[in-house]
Amino acid sequence: MDYLGEVIALGIDSVIFGICLKQYFHCKNAITAVKGAEFHEVGPSVEDLVNKSTNSKIDYVAIRGIVKPLGKPLTSISDKKLTGVVQKFKIKEHVVARTTAGFWSDQKRTVHKVYNTVPFALQQGRHSIEVLEPLSADILDMDVVSNTFKPTVPSFADHLWGFFTGVRQRGLQSTEKLLREGAIMTGVGELTKTKSNTLVLQPPLNGTPFYLTSMSISSLLRKLDDRKKTYRLLCLMFGAIGMLIGGIVFRRYWKERTEQRLAEELRQSLAASRKERRQRVRDTDLREDQICVVCRTNPREIILLPCGHVCLCEDCSEDITTDCPMCRTPIAQKAAAYII
Ligand SMILES: [Zn+2]
Ligand SMILES: [Zn+2]
Repeated sequence: MDYLGEVIALGIDSVIFGICLKQYFHCKNAITAVKGAEFHEVGPSVEDLVNKSTNSKIDYVAIRGIVKPLGKPLTSISDKKLTGVVQKFKIKEHVVARTTAGFWSDQKRTVHKVYNTVPFALQQGRHSIEVLEPLSADILDMDVVSNTFKPTVPSFADHLWGFFTGVRQRGLQSTEKLLREGAIMTGVGELTKTKSNTLVLQPPLNGTPFYLTSMSISSLLRKLDDRKKTYRLLCLMFGAIGMLIGGIVFRRYWKERTEQRLAEELRQSLAASRKERRQRVRDTDLREDQICVVCRTNPREIILLPCGHVCLCEDCSEDITTDCPMCRTPIAQKAAAYII
């Protein structure tokens, strides 16, 4: 296929453009939703609000409170004094890898990732709201409690192995993040009252994003706005690339079509001038057995093979391509016949 490269590039570009556009609208809708959400501190006002609402449910609300585990909290791996409710432990391998171009480049890959959670609530005095599914939050702010890098000391065998495989380990980075007990957090999501009369904050069913953040609402909005701007920029960039590739394809196609049209015009004008020249040199004084069986004007000029009939002038033979008009034998070949 002539345009395979361009089509593949355009396909990849459209996929990236589509993803960026989707993210852009996701951010845009999230900003509208967060702006529309009422802000409350955990307390009697929230409880009143839920009691007054239909189905004991508020679709989207922002609630601030202090993180409190509903049971035994998690303990940090690196610092036993620290406790929390959501823990993320990640080990990344730093490697120097040989790229296909032959250069060595620094790369990171996650080799191990663990999440731990315990049930927890946002609390204020004796009032509390339980938070469900914290890991499905779009933004989940946690404190980095440890971030260590342990370099690998390579042996001679490692060097040799690295040379052949093209991958050399530089070291391991372990990061631990913790949503700490006692942290002041704002949860933005759906608030419902369960049958057992407890208030629950969870990811909204309608797909609006769920946030658990230590930022204020205005900072959260600013962050979302920054994301929106980034995606808008990416959309513009990939859109422009797509248009550029499309333009190149269209230009090539147009050029090829114009060339084909010009070639066809040239062929036709040559054929017409040949026809005219033939007409000028033709005999007009012909016997019945010498004139073309189709137009009955021009002399017979063409022999049809394999039947061997000489019955057509050159002009008529251009339109007759399948069977001989005299005996219906399929035409395999035509040639000029010279009758002296
Ligand atoms: Zn004819
Ligand atoms: Zn024939």
